[in-house]
Amino acid sequence: MVSTIAVVGSGVAGVAAVQALRSEGYDGRLFLIGKEREHPYDRTALSKTVLCGEKSHPPLLLPTDSIADLRVEMVLDTTAVRLDVERCELEFDNGSSLKADRVLLATGARARAAAIPGVTLAGVATLRTATDAYELRQQWHPGQHLIVVGGGLIGCEVATTARKLGLDVTILEASDELLQRVLGRRIGRWCRQRLEELGVTVRLNAGVAEFTGTDRLTGVIDTAGEVLSADSAILCVGAEPETMLAEESGLRCSRGIVVNASGGTGAESVFAAGDAASWPLRTGGRRSLETYINSQKEAAAVASAMLGSPVPAAQVPLSWTEIAGRHIQMVGDIEGAGTFVARGNLEDGAAVLFRVDNGSVMAAVSVDAPRDFAMAARLVDAGLHVNQDALSDSDMELRKIYQAARREAA
Ligand code: NAD
Repeated sequence: MVSTIAVVGSGVAGVAAVQALRSEGYDGRLFLIGKEREHPYDRTALSKTVLCGEKSHPPLLLPTDSIADLRVEMVLDTTAVRLDVERCELEFDNGSSLKADRVLLATGARARAAAIPGVTLAGVATLRTATDAYELRQQWHPGQHLIVVGGGLIGCEVATTARKLGLDVTILEASDELLQRVLGRRIGRWCRQRLEELGVTVRLNAGVAEFTGTDRLTGVIDTAGEVLSADSAILCVGAEPETMLAEESGLRCSRGIVVNASGGTGAESVFAAGDAASWPLRTGGRRSLETYINSQKEAAAVASAMLGSPVPAAQVPLSWTEIAGRHIQMVGDIEGAGTFVARGNLEDGAAVLFRVDNGSVMAAVSVDAPRDFAMAARLVDAGLHVNQDALSDSDMELRKIYQAARREAA
């Protein structure tokens, strides 16, 4: 019988798992263990409303009354340092321990470090926690020069916010376009142009050879040898799954804790979900999905599995971002086999870009088109054959295209 469950990690995956366990009817003791002192919060607000000062704190994922309703025993400011997989027992950094019937590892990810000379100087930062955002908010002032290292999601969101705050911003991106990992080359290029219109300087095929200064950062030498003056720099060069606890306990890890499509680790009582887990993809292969929505979906699947009813949930990447004042949503991997079909024109405002392979919509990225995106996500999810010409016809409702595809498949 399952009467004690310990969830390690108080980010979105951990919180969603706690909620799903209760809604599935689990009635036993439920611990949520988090190494941060703060109550679980929505990390997606950090680079946007929190950093620009519109919100003093990120929204809470579990308001106080829901902690009571869900009967969650919160163990905050505490790091799990050991897991005995056989005994299903956790040890914590304060010397205490907890024996459970099931353990969920939702340990998340950390900002990737870069071994660049001068990286430890004051003024060189990363953004992962609320504390990071509060500190940056204190340090940044209008007119200062900020170097953003890495033009991915955090880099471009932070560049947008820093311009709002009146900083001069330069992005140094190692590859030949911004945002390629999640938005692909075409939308990446379009975002770069929007950021440049905001006054951001973007240098592609660029990086930092050295951060310079005595105690505090005063400049950067880029990989081409050019010296740039800088008041601060932020490293946004990717995330690394937090797998140390899992690795040391003998669980299989390979750029994430290797799990099956229900979150099982291979050890009967130990499961994983969220950024820490390398989860199977519906299109084949596996990886840590690194998105809020996928973490929630994985958490729902893992909750069922922990209670003895595994429901395989291979994942399709699903996420959103806000860059240069535009709302961008993405589903599936936009780069891949097949052809691109555009619906609408980005120059006129809203548009959707689809990737269609063998007649099926494999992925889509939308800009300021949330209603179309909702249908695009359903098309990707259903994997139905569609009429490619109809997709590009903005006068033809996507809902109708979806319904026609369903009728044809029936
Ligand atoms: P990312 O993977 O999105 O982007 C990293 C970028 O840094 C890439 O473009 C890469 O080419 C570049 N890069 C790598 N090494 C470099 C170097 N030495 N010099 C210059 N550029 C370099 O990662 P991120 O932006 O750091 O975000 C971290 C995590 O947070 C990711 O998991 C991301 O998915 C998540 N996140 C998600 C959202 C969202 O979904 N809206 C928003 C922010 C962050």
